[in-house]
Amino acid sequence: MTTPIFNERLGPPEIRDIRELLPRANWSIGHREGAPRYVTLHYNGPTVMNRTPKGEINQLIGDARWHMRPGALGAKNGGDGLQYHYAVLSDGTIHQLRDEADVLWHCGNSVGNQWSLSVHLPLGGQQDATEPQWASTLRLFGWLTTRHLIPVQRVLGHKEWKATDCPGPLITPRLLRWRDAAPATQIAALLEATVDVGVYEGPGTTFPIAAASTAVMKKGDRVQVDAVLVGQRYNGDVRWFHRADGLGFVPWPTVRQV
Ligand SMILES: [Zn+2]
Repeated sequence: MTTPIFNERLGPPEIRDIRELLPRANWSIGHREGAPRYVTLHYNGPTVMNRTPKGEINQLIGDARWHMRPGALGAKNGGDGLQYHYAVLSDGTIHQLRDEADVLWHCGNSVGNQWSLSVHLPLGGQQDATEPQWASTLRLFGWLTTRHLIPVQRVLGHKEWKATDCPGPLITPRLLRWRDAAPATQIAALLEATVDVGVYEGPGTTFPIAAASTAVMKKGDRVQVDAVLVGQRYNGDVRWFHRADGLGFVPWPTVRQV
């Protein structure tokens, strides 16, 4: 496995928009206000018999109808269309399936449904991702997490929301290996302090304040940050930012993006 690419200077990956190609109901489950906070990975469950791009797109069209059938997803009328935002095919091509702001019923957890982007790999059973497919999946994770300031620890498998086999026996360990090796989402953002706040040596107030307890951002101070990661919960949010100058970490609720 090569190192995942998080460098946003490389630009977004190529994404094919096939939203118009997929069956879609004339109503919507809902629209997310604000940025997504998680990414959730899925697989097909049953083996996908035709693992060519054409076969996989046909599978997605069939999945959309399956998700929309009456009674599907625990709803009387079924879902409002396919319940995945993105799919990565066996040839490594990335396809957009739904609007990013669409709330989807994909993981059996209300927080996960409301706040995560849903990424699907059309494979199942004992099928593993192809190398181009996994490389593109990580590229997509890198782009989504960088763009939405989502820590890598919040890229989850479906089974981390609810007991299920998804994303399967081979993709789940791939996901965990990647996440364990990627301690933070690398970003390039300018933040402004909205209150006076200490700069800590680690992502939590249990760490010392940096520079021998002297490192403070005053309200209005601006700083370039290079990473976002999960740390100690602070005013209801677990995201901490690392200053690009290396001085230390500040909690998300004390800053805003400028
Ligand atoms: Zn799933």
